[in-house]
Amino acid sequence: MSSEQTFIAIKPDGVQRGLVGPIISRFEQRGFKLAALKLVTPSKEHLEQHYQDLREKPFFPGLVSYMLSGPIVAMVWEGREVVKTGRTILGATNPLASAPGTIRGDYAIDVGRNVCHGSDSVENAKKEIALWFKPEEVISYKQSQFDWIYEKP
Ligand code: GDP
Ligand code: MG
Repeated sequence: MSSEQTFIAIKPDGVQRGLVGPIISRFEQRGFKLAALKLVTPSKEHLEQHYQDLREKPFFPGLVSYMLSGPIVAMVWEGREVVKTGRTILGATNPLASAPGTIRGDYAIDVGRNVCHGSDSVENAKKEIALWFKPEEVISYKQSQFDWIYEKP
């Protein structure tokens, strides 16, 4: 299946540091297809919902205020195994443990300023896409490079 989708976000530090272009480029150059994109300033409630699994963690209040500190680029990327591969492109949660060549491994140092988010499972990707996007904001189209990227549909 080439139609798997993941939710990728460029966090406020990534936007403020001028990393929108470089982060998008890594997904584009890999061959994934952009299905949705917007610059947003979500509410505290929205961000608490997004990170609900982490609400008991000591860093949760700091995480929510970090995510509230500026605009976020919200995206949906599509392609074969994009959820798992998207996480590989982002790198480990803690940038100091991220390999060079990953986004976090190239652009970040602190776990609390790790510039990007990516869904961790297909199931969570579906939930996150539904939280951040209206159905009509996720665009379906044929990627012109499709047959050059995939051997089989
Ligand atoms: P991710 O899926 O790789 O983003 O990692 P998690 O889902 O475990 O955590 C969500 C986000 O919370 C991370 O991307 C970090 O921004 C933040 N976070 C995770 N662990 C820590 C921590 O130990 N300290 C701080 N300050 N932030 C953390
Ligand atoms: Mg996570």
